Amino acid sequence: MNNLEILKQWVLESKRIVFLGGAGVSTESGIKDFRGVDGLYRQKFEYPPEKIISHSFFLEDPEYFYRFYRDKMMPLGYEPNVTHRVLAKWEAECKLEAIITQNIDGLHQKAGNKRVFELHGSVFRNYCMSCRTQYDAAFIMNTKGIPRCKCGDIVRPDVVLYEEPLDGFVLQESISAVQNADMMIVAGTSLTVYPAAGLVNHYRGDRLVLINADATPADHIANLVFHEKLGKIFSQLI
Ligand code: NAD
Repeated sequence: MNNLEILKQWVLESKRIVFLGGAGVSTESGIKDFRGVDGLYRQKFEYPPEKIISHSFFLEDPEYFYRFYRDKMMPLGYEPNVTHRVLAKWEAECKLEAIITQNIDGLHQKAGNKRVFELHGSVFRNYCMSCRTQYDAAFIMNTKGIPRCKCGDIVRPDVVLYEEPLDGFVLQESISAVQNADMMIVAGTSLTVYPAAGLVNHYRGDRLVLINADATPADHIANLVFHEKLGKIFSQLI
């Protein structure tokens, strides 16, 4: 059997698949990743993107933060691609236990998945830093400069910025899902952002599959590795 046939067989036999994904899952929907060939990190900005979307920079210069954030970090109006759709089908067939995503674009939910752990939050949720009033993405998009709540304080995205901890509950649920998985697929992520990247180490089974255009630091522990476009693999798993 070749690797694709083995993958198909494993998908057929597995009942608790956990999918850990990153920005590469959404590039085929048209959203740029950070570190891929056309990624944001290859573009030139006044400051490195990690600095602009850090907690300290947000507090120091929210005006600049929001200029960058609205322009580069708000993936609105995009549609799920074949990878999102296959994962939604697997959940409907009770094969998929959970999706753990580093993405903030909401495309897994748009495709129909219910059990999605958003490690880095979502651009669709925003809240006032004082009174916690909730705002949608359109509010952020349609305001100019620093978005302000009725109470006067800044409305911030429910997105985990660099230097900020992950939500403890989301992380714990993600770890449990990985520990109980009978198959784990890690895809479209450079596995460089922690603690998300460390989740792979909680997997205990022997069906760890890595699908990524470029090599990753976890290739050597995977049972199957594909250095391919996700669409190419997932379109054969429908
Ligand atoms: P990353 O940019 O560091 O890595 C993406 C990886 O995906 C790269 O190794 C690239 O080679 C691979 N890739 C890109 N397109 C692919 C495809 N079609 N098929 C297979 N592989 C492909 O992304 P990351 O590891 O997720 O870390 C970046 C951080 O940036 C995350 O925290 C994420 O939240 C955030 N981010 C999110 C979005 C989004 O929500 N869509 C977009 C950009 C960045």
